[in-house]
Amino acid sequence: MDMIERFEQAIELKEVDRVPLVSPLQTGIVDLMEMTGSYWPDAHKDPNKMANLSIAAYKIGGLESVRVPYENCVEVEALGCVLGNWKVDEQPRVEKHVISSSTEMDKLRMPDPKKDGRMPVVIEAVRILKEKVGHEVPVFAAISSPFEMLARLMDYTQLLREVFSGAEDLHSLLEFATEVETLYAQHLIDAGATGITLVNGSSSNLGPKFYNEYSLKYEKQLIASLDAYTCIHICGDTTLILDLMAQSGTDGISIDSHVPISKAKEIVGTRAAIIGNVSTTNLWKNNPEEIINEAKSCIEDGVDILAPACGFPPRTPLENMQAMKDAVL
Ligand SMILES: [Zn+2]
Repeated sequence: MDMIERFEQAIELKEVDRVPLVSPLQTGIVDLMEMTGSYWPDAHKDPNKMANLSIAAYKIGGLESVRVPYENCVEVEALGCVLGNWKVDEQPRVEKHVISSSTEMDKLRMPDPKKDGRMPVVIEAVRILKEKVGHEVPVFAAISSPFEMLARLMDYTQLLREVFSGAEDLHSLLEFATEVETLYAQHLIDAGATGITLVNGSSSNLGPKFYNEYSLKYEKQLIASLDAYTCIHICGDTTLILDLMAQSGTDGISIDSHVPISKAKEIVGTRAAIIGNVSTTNLWKNNPEEIINEAKSCIEDGVDILAPACGFPPRTPLENMQAMKDAVL
C-alpha cells in the first residue's frame, strides 16, 4: 500500500495495512529550516521556500504528507489586516484588525486569490508540491474556517460579545467569509491540493448552541463546495461539540490532546476519521522514546490517522518528529 492509498483508505475509514502518519496541521520546525535554508519568515512569503520546508517534513521528518502554509493569517492579510511578529520560531499574528465590528462590513471586498496578499504564494507553493511530491504523498493546504476568519478580522472579545448578544450583521459577515474561503480553497484545489484543512482556533469557547449557529452552519456550506478531502481542526477541548463537528460533512476531524481518542471515536462513529493527537507540548519537550510511547497509545486507542494534536511547535526537535514515524512502522 503506498502512502496516498493508505491515507485515502484511512480517511474513508476503509481497511489499511497500518495507520498513516499525516499532518493536516503546520509542520515548520527550526531544525528543518536550518537543514534546508528555508527559514521563517521568508518561508511564509516565498513559494519555493514554503514548498521546500514542507517537503523536508516528509523526506527528513518522516511525515507521510506535505502541508502549507505555516500560519492562519493569509486570508485576513489579503483582506487588509496588518500582520506583525515575523519571527523564525513564532507564527505571525494580526497587529491591526481591518474592522472593529460586524457593522463595518462595507470596508471589505472580495479578494482576488491570484494577486491579493500572500494567497498567490500559497497557491504557487501547492503547485510546486503537487509537481514534486504529489504522486507520493497527499498535499494539504490549510484555510481558516469562516468563524476563525472573523476572529482575526476583528478583535476576538468584540466577536464573542456580538455572538452572545446575537448581533444581526454577524451572519452577513459569516456569509462573506464563507465566500472568500470557498473561492480561495478552490484555487488551492485547482493548484493540486488533495486535502483542505479548515483550521479553527476559536470555536471551542462557543459551546454547542453558538457553535452550531455561528460556526458549523458555515463550515458545512464550505465543505459541501470543496472537491477534495477535508479535515476540520478546532483547538482545545471539543468533546461537547464533536457530535456537531461530525455533522459538518468533513472527512476527518483533527482532535487536540484534551480529547480522549476513545471518546471521540464513540461520539463520531463512522461519520469521520479521527486524526490526532500526540500532545504538541510533549512533542516540544519530551524525548523520542516518550513520543513513540505516546504515539503508540494513540494507535492502540483507535486513532485512524496519527498526527500531532495541533500544529508542530517550531522548536520541536527533529528527532521527535521522526519518532512519530517509528511508532507507525
Ligand atoms: Zn489547534
